[in-house]
Amino acid sequence: MAILEVKGINVSYGNLQALWDVSLNVEEGKVVALLGANGAGKTTLLNAITGMIKSTSGEVTFKGERIDSLPADKIIEKGISYLPEGGRLFPEMTITENLEMGAYPSKLWGKRKPDLERMYELFPILGQRKNQLARTMSGGERQMLAMGRALMSNPVLCLFDELSYGLSPVMAQAVFKIVKQLREEGITVFLVEQNVHMTLEVADYAYVIENGRIVKEGEGHSLLEDDYIKQAYLGI
Ligand code: ATP
Repeated sequence: MAILEVKGINVSYGNLQALWDVSLNVEEGKVVALLGANGAGKTTLLNAITGMIKSTSGEVTFKGERIDSLPADKIIEKGISYLPEGGRLFPEMTITENLEMGAYPSKLWGKRKPDLERMYELFPILGQRKNQLARTMSGGERQMLAMGRALMSNPVLCLFDELSYGLSPVMAQAVFKIVKQLREEGITVFLVEQNVHMTLEVADYAYVIENGRIVKEGEGHSLLEDDYIKQAYLGI
């Protein structure tokens, strides 16, 4: 069953149309990816799904309910967590304080302590350095912290924008390993990525976006063998 359905979304910035009739489905419990180059429209789609920008037409449905006219805070309350590109941490706060900010909505605040323990299990590095300031962490560690903070709202669907961007291959692998763990826990993940090879190794299903249009879709492993993907994105 599709937990998230995007149907015929069009988005324009003034005269520039950034998304053209974009439709896709994210099946419950799966890792689904949207792959594309810089400027293809990936972040624009995430912003349209989360109510950060308004689409000119189209529908977004979460668990069968239209969410495209809801404000961003109401969308998050439904169980969707959005990690924007770059993580947007609070650099002068500690690891624990940054995680707690993910539980800021009052109904989550009361259970932040058990949730913190869960994050320290999922990301042992965070548990070892609870009082370290976010700004002193490496890029990979910051990305782990940003993921942890996004998970503090107990989402059923995580939207991750360019998790692996700027990370070393080793850290990128570590981040994708967490994505697999989330799937094992039953959390649905929609990933937006430029790292085509690593993403297709993890994703159950993927869409490719070029110039604001979906140009290809298929199961992760089968796209790895696809001639067009090999030529255009994998350089082989
Ligand atoms: P990147 O990985 O570089 O962020 P992307 O695939 O996420 O790329 P978008 O950021 O969604 O791409 O951008 C899609 C198109 O819309 C691009 O042509 C971009 O220049 C344009 N665009 C994005 N945001 C705005 C904005 N706020 N105002 C005007 N144009 C924008």
